[in-house]
Amino acid sequence: MHVDEDSHDIELEVNHEARIKEAVGRWIDDVCGTDPADHDWTSEGEGGLDENPGVWSLGGTKLLTREHCTRCGLCREETHAGSQRNPGEAAVSVRYELPAPSDEDDQSGADPSDDGDGDSPPAPGS
Ligand SMILES: [Zn+2]
Repeated sequence: MHVDEDSHDIELEVNHEARIKEAVGRWIDDVCGTDPADHDWTSEGEGGLDENPGVWSLGGTKLLTREHCTRCGLCREETHAGSQRNPGEAAVSVRYELPAPSDEDDQSGADPSDDGDGDSPPAPGS
């Protein structure tokens, strides 16, 4: 049973600025901005299909696209449900993720994998 915390988000419009703010959090000063247009998106090095770099087929009409900003490193992942999407399923869902600054994660072996079930709230403070 998968519970999507964004299940209310079935509008076609995606609030990219809110998603970016959520992703960058405390590193907000290090990124280009919260408007997707402020970033320099590229799918270079993301892998994906030969004919469509940065694009993966998820079966049926579903596609996943991955890009990152060449300046600040913010990652954008979009899932396109396509014409065969389920009733109530968002046509496009987008996720932004800013990798932690590389000069801080060298000695940490911990990798808090994101299982997406929302039962691990961020630690307060720090
Ligand atoms: Zn950027």
